Amino acid sequence: MDSTNNTPNMRLNQMLERLKESDFRITPQRYAVLHVLANSPDHPSVESIHAELLDNYPTMSLATVYKTINLLKQEGEILELEFSDLSNRYDGKKPYPHPHVICTKCGKITDPSQLNLEEITNKMMEETGFKIVSHRLDFYGICPNCLE
Ligand code: ZN
Ligand code: MN
Repeated sequence: MDSTNNTPNMRLNQMLERLKESDFRITPQRYAVLHVLANSPDHPSVESIHAELLDNYPTMSLATVYKTINLLKQEGEILELEFSDLSNRYDGKKPYPHPHVICTKCGKITDPSQLNLEEITNKMMEETGFKIVSHRLDFYGICPNCLE
């Protein structure tokens, strides 16, 4: 499950292979969406992916971005972060649950890398008797840019 050290190209190939295995056609536009997701460290929204691609793909529609993301969701190849007051954001680099640090001013979302949840999770399972299979852990604050 730990693919923290995956390079953008490895992630791109993993996503491509998974979609091909499930017989989804890889159109140039779908490929472009995967490419953004594999390379973007800032948890883009559907709208920001669309905006980023519009220059090179003038016929790209929001619907194409949505559909591609939905395919990835079906295949478990993307992590969706839902918010009540922001657009959904997506992590294609790490498609499994992990903690996030979120700026309440500008909406920047970062992955803290030095946080090992394994020990906490094990203690929780011991204490509660639950078999824990997932989590959602968000830390809110002000990012360095907004602090200036
Ligand atoms: Zn900020
Ligand atoms: Mn993330």
